Amino acid sequence: MPIFEYKCKKCGHKTEFLEKAGSSKKHSCEKCGSNNLQRLFSGFSVGQSSQGSDSCSTGTCPTGTCGL
Ligand SMILES: [Zn+2]
Repeated sequence: MPIFEYKCKKCGHKTEFLEKAGSSKKHSCEKCGSNNLQRLFSGFSVGQSSQGSDSCSTGTCPTGTCGL
């Protein structure tokens, strides 16, 4: 199962979550409780589809889901 890293847009805290591919489960910051998290891609956690997600390697696309 891939690990996704999320960064809280409110306090900047980074958290890693184990997540099924294609899951759209909402996570919340364990530090401040905000659910305004930005998904980061840490590279090693992405499988065969990593090539196709280069354009969103920073997770800054509008939806944040283009790597799926
Ligand atoms: Zn936070």
